[in-house]
Amino acid sequence: MKKMTDPDRSKEIQEKLSRKIGERSGRLAERMLIRTEDGRDPYDLDFSEREALAERLGKEIASVLLEENLSQDAWREIVEEAVSWECPRCGKDSPRHKDDDGNEAYEQLELKTKAGMIRADIRLFRCGKCRKIFSPLPPENQSRS
Ligand SMILES: [Zn+2]
Repeated sequence: MKKMTDPDRSKEIQEKLSRKIGERSGRLAERMLIRTEDGRDPYDLDFSEREALAERLGKEIASVLLEENLSQDAWREIVEEAVSWECPRCGKDSPRHKDDDGNEAYEQLELKTKAGMIRADIRLFRCGKCRKIFSPLPPENQSRS
């Protein structure tokens, strides 16, 4: 995986991520200090429950960071800009897939990571020969047949 190199773009992405984390951290602080996600008073929790709560909230921030990092990955950019992709089955150059309304089609991947589940939208392509719709996965994650 490669990162973007355009410095203006990097700055813009960094600011966007900071805003995203800012919005999220307000809600996380509320759950740590005012009311937990299941409506409990966090001060009624014993110490190990508070530790577990803090750890969960930390993981939520970690997943936002990881999600954003992956969405800015150069590989994602290559897939996003590709007008066609080689079919993993027969090798035929396959065009972008469009849904029934004629919109560009994406698959929402859910990746299980140490930071929890994260989502990534990946462009879909369609091989006319195999009649298969596929999304190119990063080479290191390619485990499907
Ligand atoms: Zn094919």
